[in-house]
Amino acid sequence: MNDPIVDCIIVGGGPAGLTAALYLARFRRSTVVIDDGQSRASLIPVVRNLAGFESGINGNALLAKMRRQIECYDVPLVEGRVTTITRTDGGFLVEYGSTSGPSSRSLVARHVLLACGIRDKLPPIDDAIALTQEGLLRFCAICDGFEAQGKRIAMLGPASRALSHALFFRTFCQQVAVIASDNDALTQQERALAAENAIELITTETLELSNSSEASFSVACQNGRRHAFDAIYPVLGCLPQANLLSGLDVQRDNDGMIVTDKHQRTSVDGLYAAGDAVNSLNQICVAIGEAAVASLAIHRSLPANPL
Ligand SMILES: Cc1cc2nc3c(=O)[nH]c(=O)nc-3n(C[C@H](O)[C@H](O)[C@H](O)COP(=O)(O)OP(=O)(O)OC[C@H]3O[C@@H](n4cnc5c(N)ncnc54)[C@H](O)[C@@H]3O)c2cc1C
Repeated sequence: MNDPIVDCIIVGGGPAGLTAALYLARFRRSTVVIDDGQSRASLIPVVRNLAGFESGINGNALLAKMRRQIECYDVPLVEGRVTTITRTDGGFLVEYGSTSGPSSRSLVARHVLLACGIRDKLPPIDDAIALTQEGLLRFCAICDGFEAQGKRIAMLGPASRALSHALFFRTFCQQVAVIASDNDALTQQERALAAENAIELITTETLELSNSSEASFSVACQNGRRHAFDAIYPVLGCLPQANLLSGLDVQRDNDGMIVTDKHQRTSVDGLYAAGDAVNSLNQICVAIGEAAVASLAIHRSLPANPL
């Protein structure tokens, strides 16, 4: 509590948080980033749709570059997990714990930017994180559907949602399947749509995935048949990371995502949000763009810098 009040605390050090740190530092605003190191970008084997990286770039390498860039501006990057954010007179009290131990600390800021992202729900298989980093489990058709051309792909999740993703995926692949435990829940119309688009519907009670010699995944289905796939896209939904907001009346949408206006302002004065935490297209370039918009709005709402 003895720390001086800072202009902005950024919760999250993924592409959104690190971009906002860069912009705010360049606006000569005192800024602290608090991050617990679980960026979705750290799961990406190769980012191929980010302009300027013609050969692609590994997600962790991109984050390391972004962190190095803000080091030039002396923005503290604190390893820790923010636990609560409370309104104070003229700002916010942000409490956080260390990632390596139970110690708890706090900082006071005039503004807070939530760049805390989301967490993907993983299928119940061993090594799901490692399989994602190898590109065998995938989470974003917009990101890597292009590279799936000619491969055997399956969408794994509730039947209706998996079918809708499979239909989108037909842009890239001829062999797309839906793996669901509730295919019975599909309407006649959905079944007809699947048939029209040659999307195979596979039903499994218990998911049994294994590596096999001729495929990355072999899936056992109810009738005992096995299906082989080169990659599987789980479409099981995601967990918003904004539980720290329980004390604040922040408007969220039906999926739990933070609602913002076009300047990335939330319903709480002084509290902003950007990136995957906001219900938008979950892409690095969008996270970066929203962070730039939020930073400018934060800068403009603060008193002018002393000359
Ligand atoms: C497998 C995979 C592949 C992808 N491929 C691509 C691609 O090719 N191209 C593309 O554009 N996008 C891709 N994406 C999406 C991209 O990763 C996200 O859109 C991007 O990382 C969002 O940035 P962000 O900063 O909003 O969130 P994140 O990168 O998730 O960062 C949020 C950060 O906040 C931290 N945090 C959360 N809560 C707290 C807290 N309470 N206290 C402290 N820190 C906290 C997290 O640990 C994390 O470090 C992919 C995603 C996945 C999962």
